Amino acid sequence: MPSFVIKEKCDGCKGQDKTACMYICPHDLMTLDKDGSETGTEMKAYNQEPEQCWECYNCVKICPQQAIEVRAYADFAPLGASVIPMRGTDSIMWTVKFRNGVLKRFKFPIRLVPEGSVDPYAGKPEPNFDDIKKPGFFNYSL
Ligand code: SF4
Ligand code: SF4
Repeated sequence: MPSFVIKEKCDGCKGQDKTACMYICPHDLMTLDKDGSETGTEMKAYNQEPEQCWECYNCVKICPQQAIEVRAYADFAPLGASVIPMRGTDSIMWTVKFRNGVLKRFKFPIRLVPEGSVDPYAGKPEPNFDDIKKPGFFNYSL
């Protein structure tokens, strides 16, 4: 099932031009209803094309208000469960609430080094960007 926004929790990312969910969606599905004409309430985000949703959970994970949900895949949570993430700087905690009320929490590390310290080349030579103009590079066009 596609993502959906819990209106009571969404604060429209405090009126920023581009909300967190708009920024992260790889399919540009999330949008902000500034005047309330779509959702009935001003400054609430919504998924403008649910049938196109990849259910990738990106918007769910980035929302600072935990206002977005995607129905969990049946292979890790049965029908009726809700799955809410809480991101930290080095880990993410998933809270699964089953329909009988049982809560389970799973915590996973999401990075191995401190933020901002990644060396993208890590001992490898830096790329020569002129090489990209050579024939033979996939998708290169004039
Ligand atoms: S990221 Fe969350 S709080 Fe911000 S606009 Fe989207 S749903 Fe609302
Ligand atoms: S689940 Fe993924 S594809 Fe669907 S609205 Fe969220 S970010 Fe976009």
